[in-house]
Amino acid sequence: MRFQDIPGLESTKAKLVEAVANNHVAHAQLFVGNEGSANLAMALAFSSYLNCENRTDGDSCGECSSCVKNSKFVHPDVNFVFPSAATPKLKREDATSDKFLTEWRSFLLQSVYGNVKDWSSHFGWENKLLMIPRQESRNIVKALSLKAFEGEYKVMIIWLPELMNGNAANGILKILEEPPEKTIFLMVSSEANKLLTTITSRTQQLRVPSFSDQEIAETIQSTGVESERADRIAYMSEGSMRMALQMVAGDDNETQDYFKNWFRQCFTFNFQELTKMADEFQKKGKEFQKELLGVGTKVMREAIISSASLDSLSRIPEQEKGFIEKFASVFTPEKIMSVTPKLDEAQYHIERNANPKILFLDLSMTIGQIARA
Ligand SMILES: [Zn+2]
Repeated sequence: MRFQDIPGLESTKAKLVEAVANNHVAHAQLFVGNEGSANLAMALAFSSYLNCENRTDGDSCGECSSCVKNSKFVHPDVNFVFPSAATPKLKREDATSDKFLTEWRSFLLQSVYGNVKDWSSHFGWENKLLMIPRQESRNIVKALSLKAFEGEYKVMIIWLPELMNGNAANGILKILEEPPEKTIFLMVSSEANKLLTTITSRTQQLRVPSFSDQEIAETIQSTGVESERADRIAYMSEGSMRMALQMVAGDDNETQDYFKNWFRQCFTFNFQELTKMADEFQKKGKEFQKELLGVGTKVMREAIISSASLDSLSRIPEQEKGFIEKFASVFTPEKIMSVTPKLDEAQYHIERNANPKILFLDLSMTIGQIARA
């Protein structure tokens, strides 16, 4: 991973490059960014940069032996710690990162924008709760007690330290404060507010901003997505490259169409049709259901903006404006205020495995009542 593989974010990259140039690399850094941001990508690119044998123009060269290893995530001086769970062969406490490196590398090679759920399903843990177990702190101390094998720096990348067991976190405080020479901790967090202050106070924080719509649109356009669709996906994904890439892989148009049809049926209160739809939503699975509700929330927001004639705030692509205007004529701001919390609530319950069919049928009735009031 090189800086140039990450779209935009020039000032963040410049800060990191400058620290190396000035010989001011903090030994414990915390890369904070929302889910789907470049927080992990940035730490990986920085790690490549630190050990590149031929840094040029503010980036690693991509060609030296260190870069080649880093591009496959197999550099012997770059250690990874990440959340995991028990397997049929490994007890919870023994399930440490070093046991899952092959899968971890293939996960990173697929995408550096995934979240913990993506990692869990990539490995096949599915519904298990992932965490960084206590034993991991001993492994960290052990790994860092060795001298760098071939690089200038020994790097310890800890992905999602907020999922660290309390004992594991306490177990690394000392080494975090006084690491061996040329040892760099790069922690990558999506929820820094959940970190122990004993950890955050020992790290230098770097905020990695979410992507702009333009950065996302350009990135997915470069994968062959036509520009109109790219704009729509960028708008829907709200700065998350993860969400954008998932939408590229799926069919975002389809979800929009489902949403339009669903709300139409809610308005006409067609019970038979709504039952059929709830059934279909159930079959299409959790990710679809969440996306459908997400589309709903965004349409609501745009309808408010449209009825207040605040066009400058609108983020919706031109081709969707007609639908939003029609929608706003039925759903007044007051009605939207009543519906939006229902959508949020439904999201919450879906995350917690509520029965989707009952949930959607119930929600449809509620939305119908509000629309027709
Ligand atoms: Zn290099």
